[in-house]
Amino acid sequence: MSSTPSPVARPSQATLTGRALRLRCPACGQGRLFRGWLRMNDPCPRCGRRFDRAPGYLLGSIYFNYGVTTLLVTAAYFAGYFSGKLTSQQLLIALAAFSVLFPMWFFRYARALWIAFDERWDPWPNEQEQRELKRAAAAAEEK
Ligand SMILES: [Zn+2]
Repeated sequence: MSSTPSPVARPSQATLTGRALRLRCPACGQGRLFRGWLRMNDPCPRCGRRFDRAPGYLLGSIYFNYGVTTLLVTAAYFAGYFSGKLTSQQLLIALAAFSVLFPMWFFRYARALWIAFDERWDPWPNEQEQRELKRAAAAAEEK
């Protein structure tokens, strides 16, 4: 028996994004990425896809979190500034609070979007991961 997954059709970007927004595995769409607010399932409880593929791999999600936060704060700043309903001081306080709270809430989605983005461009398992899976399967059979 081999634990190497068989190649399957690659999901579209829309499918991957939908899975990410539901916090599901990008490969199978079934397994949950998180088992708590911050704790990740790794690997996928359904298909075995590794979510943390290498040391530092998940740091890429910071780009998603930072980018989305920056876009929203920039849009909210201009909307608030030109609406004239808030003073500069009120706008500063509101956006500073948003800049702290939103990334904490968005953390799981940023990770899910990062993993889905990576699945699109470097589907799991890549060649190196396939070799490691075969090596691990062979070592398990020798025992
Ligand atoms: Zn899965």
